[in-house]
Amino acid sequence: MNDGVRWGRPGELCTCGRQAIEVFETDHGPVGWCRISDGGNSVGPCPFCGSPRKHFTPWGDLGRCPSYRLRLVGGDV
Ligand SMILES: [Zn+2]
Ligand SMILES: [Zn+2]
Repeated sequence: MNDGVRWGRPGELCTCGRQAIEVFETDHGPVGWCRISDGGNSVGPCPFCGSPRKHFTPWGDLGRCPSYRLRLVGGDV
């Protein structure tokens, strides 16, 4: 329950595809957050898996891509 939080570094992304302002260290790996809770840019291709449409939860919120990664390029942590 005590996830670490740090500042996002350049190139680290929120689940919505924006630059991450903060990064949460979770049990499932680091997850970025852009601090904008409008669901992000809901149109256009998914930046993580290339799907032509982004992912939505059954209740209509923008969902996290199953291929979400903190960084699109590079494997350094
Ligand atoms: Zn975001
Ligand atoms: Zn996706």
